[in-house]
Amino acid sequence: MDAAGEAGDGASSKGGEGAPGDGAAWEAEWAMGRLRAPLSAGLYLVATPIGNLEDITLRALRVLREADRIACEDTRQTQKLLHHYGIRTPTVSYHAHNEAGRAAELVEELKAGGRIAVVSDAGTPGIADPGAEIVAAAIAAGVAVIPVPGANALLAGLIASGLDVEAGFCFHGFLPGKAGQRRSLLEGLRGGGTSEGKAAAVQVFYEAPHRILEALADVEAVFGAGQRVVVGRELTKLHEEFLRGTAAEVRAELGGRESVRGEMVLMLAPRGLRVEGAIESVAAAVRGLVGAGVEEKEALKRVAKERGMGKSEAYREWQRGKGR
Ligand code: SAM
Repeated sequence: MDAAGEAGDGASSKGGEGAPGDGAAWEAEWAMGRLRAPLSAGLYLVATPIGNLEDITLRALRVLREADRIACEDTRQTQKLLHHYGIRTPTVSYHAHNEAGRAAELVEELKAGGRIAVVSDAGTPGIADPGAEIVAAAIAAGVAVIPVPGANALLAGLIASGLDVEAGFCFHGFLPGKAGQRRSLLEGLRGGGTSEGKAAAVQVFYEAPHRILEALADVEAVFGAGQRVVVGRELTKLHEEFLRGTAAEVRAELGGRESVRGEMVLMLAPRGLRVEGAIESVAAAVRGLVGAGVEEKEALKRVAKERGMGKSEAYREWQRGKGR
């Protein structure tokens, strides 16, 4: 495949075929767009700002300008962005309620050589937003799917959180609104808490302002009052802030405000997800069940299942804690 094909949008790479010897002149030509081929056919997934209108790439603007159509989660919302940048490309709605039907229709256009951009209201399409249906349909139809990356709330929150992101992270989208389901999800993450366990990574959630206090109360109940959390609020916007502390401290801070507003990303530190302190050890839980008459092997199996641990991980934890 040539450089233009790799770029996905007809752009040739610097130093590739056709690049003139004079670097400065080439840069100028490139900046003016003269060296770029027209946008090639395909489905473009274009990230848009999550607050600050400057958070959009030059490539995203060009794709939005040159596409045949822009499929928008909410056409009125996207119009504000398009207006700001003087882009007049026609828009069409593409949201949770018409995703399947609209995807089929747009794929027909793509098969005929169309260039369609997909955007959500804010951030990266397909991340807790519509996008997955049309991507699957385009791939099934053999159409090129081209990411145009950019703003995204979970990554913006993570990189400034100060948490140990190197330990890895796990994104869950929105926490369930129902208390029981939310608790179950969090309890499932508690896991064994060993370094190999799935919980030994930063856990990231999107959360609505009217539910954040309940969510923090559940985090505290499940992981203990010492669980460290970070709430990234209104990222990239005028009132951007990071609340860092234990779940109890952050809840007290937010709960003490007249009202809790704004968009939020909730992140849980990996260390606090370990069993120390707040949560009974595997060995203690097994001992408790054995004391209640359950056979040892069965007790270990039940404890592992409750905590979402693998058999060998639970066995190791059990052995480690047996003598304590
Ligand atoms: N696709 C988007 C992305 O790439 O981040 C996410 C869309 S999802 C429907 C909206 C949720 O993302 C909000 O409820 C909030 O949890 C989070 N979010 C979006 N913008 C945010 C911001 N500026 N600050 C903090 N969280 C934000």
